Amino acid sequence: MLKGRCLCGDVRFEYDGEITEVAICHCSQCRQAQGTPFVTNAPIETNKLRFLTGETSLKSFFSSKEKRRVFCKNCGSPIFSQRIDMPEVVRLRLGTLSSLVNHTPDYHIYYGSKVDWFDGARQIPIYDENKD
Ligand SMILES: [Zn+2]
Ligand SMILES: [Zn+2]
Repeated sequence: MLKGRCLCGDVRFEYDGEITEVAICHCSQCRQAQGTPFVTNAPIETNKLRFLTGETSLKSFFSSKEKRRVFCKNCGSPIFSQRIDMPEVVRLRLGTLSSLVNHTPDYHIYYGSKVDWFDGARQIPIYDENKD
């Protein structure tokens, strides 16, 4: 069981599954949403994600018509994003996990949008836009 929380601790969650895929996303929306040069996102199954506290503190922002970004309304911690046409999957922001994650990043996406002041590339595949 993986555990995670937001910065203020209002939002606490458990994930009854494994992290099996990690993308490093360099798109401008992720950078602006997180204030960082890139973001580590993992697709997880919505039905294995359970909020222990603070579910009512979650707020959504639709960064596009198809995608909402969900964050704690008190402290602003980004928790996950979700595509409206894929409700069974959310993309968890891995930095919110307090449990040890035994999975390293698999690939970079939107590398064509990366900042020019930091190169976080390692020996994993790079996609200029999205992977698929
Ligand atoms: Zn919070
Ligand atoms: Zn992104």
